[in-house]
Formats: sequence, C-alpha cells, structure tokens
Amino acid sequence: MAHIELQDVGLSYFTLRQETEALRDVNLTIDRGEFISIVGPSGCGKSTLLSLVSGMQKPTKGSVLIDGTEVRGVSPKVGYMLQHDHLFEWRDLLSNLLVGAEIRRMDMKKAKRKALELLERYGLGGFAGHNPAQLSGGMRQRVALIRTLVAEPDILLLDEPFSALDYQTRLTLADEVFRIIKDQGKTALLVTHDISEAIGMADRVMVMTKRPSTISGVHDIRFDEGEGLSPWKKREAGRYNAYFNAIWRELEGHAVSG
Ligand code: ADP
Repeated sequence: MAHIELQDVGLSYFTLRQETEALRDVNLTIDRGEFISIVGPSGCGKSTLLSLVSGMQKPTKGSVLIDGTEVRGVSPKVGYMLQHDHLFEWRDLLSNLLVGAEIRRMDMKKAKRKALELLERYGLGGFAGHNPAQLSGGMRQRVALIRTLVAEPDILLLDEPFSALDYQTRLTLADEVFRIIKDQGKTALLVTHDISEAIGMADRVMVMTKRPSTISGVHDIRFDEGEGLSPWKKREAGRYNAYFNAIWRELEGHAVSG
C-alpha cells in the first residue's frame, strides 16, 4: 500500500472578492522512506500541497491518504520543518525539544530520553542546557529538526528549511539533514527553490507548473556512485548535470505566476 497518496487533488482559496485556484488534478503516490523534492514557480502552490498532506487544509477536490486512510484534520504522523526554527529563546535546548511532547501530552520521561538520545546521536550532546542564542544558524535548524523527531512522526514536511541561511551553512546543513532523515528512515517532502538541493536530497524531484498548478514531471534521481552519496557529493557525480539541465528546462517552460 502507498504511504502517501494524492488522488485528483484540487485546492482553491476563496476570499470575498475572488477564487484562487492553487492546485488542480494533482496525482502522486509516495512510498515509505522515499524523499521527494518539489520545485515550481513562486506562488504555484507548493506550500499548499504540504499543508494538505499535514491535514492543516482540506482539498476542495479529491483526497489525500496516509497509509490508506483519508487525512481528516491534523495528522499526528506528520512533522514540519520550516524556514525559521521558531525556537523559544528563553528555554534551553532540552526544554525546547519537549514543547511538542508537552502540547501532545506525551509521556514526558520517554520524550526526554528520546530528546537527549537524538541530541547525542547528531552531535549536539553537549548543548542540552544551552540557550538557542548560543548556537549558530545551522545548529539551530538541526535542533528544529530534532524537535520534530521527538514526536516520532513518519513523515517530514520540509518547507524551504535552509533558505534563511548563508550559502556555506546551507550546503553543510543539507548534508546533515539528509543523513539524519535517512538514518531515521523517514519519508520526506522538501519544498525548495534550489534545483541542486532538490536533486541532492531526493529520490524523485517533482516539478510543478504555474497556477492552477499541477505536476508537469517527476524525475527519478539515481546515481551509479551509490544512493548513500551525500547531497554535496552528488554535485560531482556523473548524471548530476543531466538531471539539473532537464529540471531547469522544464521549469523555464513555466512562467512565473502571481
Ligand atoms: P508556493 O509555496 O508555491 O510559493 P503557496 O502554496 O504559498 O505557493 O500559494 C499558492 C497560491 O495560493 C498563491 O497564489 C497564494 O497567493 C495563494 N494563497 C496561499 N494561501 C492563501 C490564503 N490563505 N488565502 C488566499 N490565497 C492564498
């Protein structure tokens, strides 16, 4: 059974004055453990698509299924990582990591054990008592990812999680986030403007058209050098340029929408 399934999905936003048709006829099947990158013109509906998978929004047409069950309301199987880390400055890292667990009324002892284990495993073991202000931007985003993992989601939705960072940090963090997500065996959907990042992290890159947006193509990303190659290393791999050019050309065909 497919892990995530979008069947003939359409979504329109209605305001008093107008209707904005964001998504039309979106069909996609995603397997457990797959990493999908989503690229498309600005304002085409990429974030909207993620919000449909999270259950924060309901499609106007069609349906979204997780493990064969239609998503109705916010799904506990899903976690988000956003452009800004939204860490609370007045809480230390450990207590930041436990915010979600508190809200969801999870077993706090178990959540604390999990949080400390994840910090240790991903190189932040010595920082549990530090405040967010004592960390670099890249470290803060790693903490934001770990905070999401404490709630043990199956699916991670990454909405431009690196775009507020400088280029160098962005490259390093993409490698780290990729390693963590693979290590944890999560299914991931990444929205990005960066074609290199999209190719480097994903098993498949999905290209969307301008509004009303639909999928114009899905590119399977395979490297002979091995699947475990980091996003950075993939940039030097054999087929990288061919993938980049194909996706670039496809995107160029879609004029920017308003
Ligand atoms: P992307 O992530 O691809 O930049 P979005 O999913 O954020 O695009 O938005 C898709 C379209 O829907 C845009 O034209 C945006 O202006 C519109 N939109 C998004 N959210 C709302 C909303 N709450 N009300 C009305 N229109 C919206």
